[in-house]
Amino acid sequence: MPEDHLNHLKARPNRATTPDLQFVAPGVWALRNVFVNLFFVRQSPNAGPWVLVDAGLPGAAAKIRHAAETLFGNGARPAAIIMTHGHFDHAGALETLAEHWDVPVYAHRLEMPYLTGLSSYPPPDPTVGGGAMAWMSGLYPKHPYQVGPRAHELPEDGSVPELPEWRWVHTPGHTPGHVSFFRESDRVLIAGDAFVTTKQESAMAVWEQRQEVHGPPKYFTCDWRAARESVEKLALLRPAVAATGHGIPMRGAALHQELEELAQHFEELAVPAQGRYVDQPALADELGVVSVPPPASNPRTPWIIGGLAATAGIGLGIWLRQRRQGRNKHVQRSRRNRQHHLDVPANSYPTVDPFTPIDEEAGY
Ligand SMILES: [Zn+2]
Ligand SMILES: [Zn+2]
Repeated sequence: MPEDHLNHLKARPNRATTPDLQFVAPGVWALRNVFVNLFFVRQSPNAGPWVLVDAGLPGAAAKIRHAAETLFGNGARPAAIIMTHGHFDHAGALETLAEHWDVPVYAHRLEMPYLTGLSSYPPPDPTVGGGAMAWMSGLYPKHPYQVGPRAHELPEDGSVPELPEWRWVHTPGHTPGHVSFFRESDRVLIAGDAFVTTKQESAMAVWEQRQEVHGPPKYFTCDWRAARESVEKLALLRPAVAATGHGIPMRGAALHQELEELAQHFEELAVPAQGRYVDQPALADELGVVSVPPPASNPRTPWIIGGLAATAGIGLGIWLRQRRQGRNKHVQRSRRNRQHHLDVPANSYPTVDPFTPIDEEAGY
């Protein structure tokens, strides 16, 4: 491993040195859910209502509620859930949480079809390269969620419900209705997947949470021209802090320098050399996907398919271990609360397909 890369790893925070629930800026906290982040944002740092920004992976509802209670007290309930976009790793627990808390869900007008059962997302593109997270993307869910009448469009004027200091910025490309959130007073940016702070295509980088600015996750990005314009728009905001959908939040000079570089050299740094959406975007409107280009052929496809079983196995192992640890903690709590004693062996839970949404309440 090159020495400069080792130094980089030593100097920057990583998964081992950061807690899952971490402070980002006054009134803003990030929760890491395996490989994706979601955010708790309070109206003012120590008072007022709070909102949840994004809703994690399928099965994450209990973890998210627990983190909310850690921050805001027992029975804490947000005023709303606000979505950067509706991919499965950002909306996995959305239906369960919205129903449990009985709160409105806000998203951009062009993201509505994927949260109200109208349309699936354009298919992910496993041919973009970059590592196992990309190779496995053909297995990721792209189906719409269904939050019914709880779904509301974000206000046209750029204001953010419950958060008067914030405004939303349309940052399409990764998805048609993707938005980011910006607080001008201290230049805090929640960027969703418009850009991210780890190399999301690589399972190794994701596992370490290696911190560096990257373009949007390549396998799910369906309009690269729009994605570039969105990164340019966010770089112009000159954020002091950026909390993104994947990776550890970044701040200061490192963020400024790397985001500028990404905006100026987006084609070389972010756009894949080949891929389904590189030359032609997926087209979508208020009702969902209108057209998608044909699948890209990839000379390495047989290798990719061969590697899929191994990488999926590793991913599944990590996932199940984390879920088991979480459940064991929950079992211990349940045992204390309900006076159950040793009647549930810690390893007796059924195996779970990580790519199929489950009923969180039953799952826990
Ligand atoms: Zn995404
Ligand atoms: Zn994501």
